[in-house]
Amino acid sequence: MRIYICNLFLFLYVSILEDNRKAMIIRRLKSGILFGTVLLTVQCASVPITGRKQLILMPESEMVQMSLTSYDDFLKENKLSTNVANTRRVKEVGSRIAAAVEAYMKSRGLEAQIEGYRWEFNLVQSPEINAWCMPGGKVVVYEGILPVCQDNNGLAVVMGHEIAHAIARHGNERMSQQMVLQAGSAVAAYALKDKPGTTQALLGAAIGLGSNYGVVLPFSRKHELEADRLGLIFMTMAGYDPQQAIPFWTRMAAVGSGQKPPEFMSTHPSDAHRIAQIKALLPEVMKYKK
Ligand SMILES: [Zn+2]
Repeated sequence: MRIYICNLFLFLYVSILEDNRKAMIIRRLKSGILFGTVLLTVQCASVPITGRKQLILMPESEMVQMSLTSYDDFLKENKLSTNVANTRRVKEVGSRIAAAVEAYMKSRGLEAQIEGYRWEFNLVQSPEINAWCMPGGKVVVYEGILPVCQDNNGLAVVMGHEIAHAIARHGNERMSQQMVLQAGSAVAAYALKDKPGTTQALLGAAIGLGSNYGVVLPFSRKHELEADRLGLIFMTMAGYDPQQAIPFWTRMAAVGSGQKPPEFMSTHPSDAHRIAQIKALLPEVMKYKK
């Protein structure tokens, strides 16, 4: 099974379909058992640093468990890089950023949010310009992205971004949105009954009318920007230079302007807009410099 960065939701969603968990979850949702959890979680869950409220319905331990199996399957089907130096670089940069994030989470009393995460950083043999991270911290970097990264700062831009998707639980959030969509508007209407305005607005946004284009894609862009912001902060906490994100995304844009843009570009369009947003983030990011 081929998986790509930020298409994680689809991947996990299929896993759920395969083992009937989806049916079980929807049954529970429909029977109302999850309503309390839904609303409680909606009110409580938020992304570290950005503080954005998010819809988290799946137990994160469940997400991590699914990732472990999927990650092992991927590693069985794909060859690890034989380049010892590059493999070590990927592991070192990843571990350094993960350690910095964990220390930050602990210092803010947020370590429970990443309980059960098992960081792993692997470089696979492939000319593809790609990288991704599964819930729980299972990262894969493709050899093809290394020339775009150029050095460890460039690699830290990619890995910081991927680690940010895991820390911000974007996979869980996407899955949760889909669960709500799947459960149907009748269930949602019941859940929304007599609830405070903010919860209504949040659930309303997740459920939305014309949901495919109204919800999933905009959230995807939101997740990307959030992963950029957090990724830059995390790489800075780990001692890397976030200013190098500008030349990195500029190089990525140049690669992406070819006839066949790399997969990474389809989910991470590095256009002038994205680069401008990253530039605007740098003053905030630099505050995390040690
Ligand atoms: Zn991303």
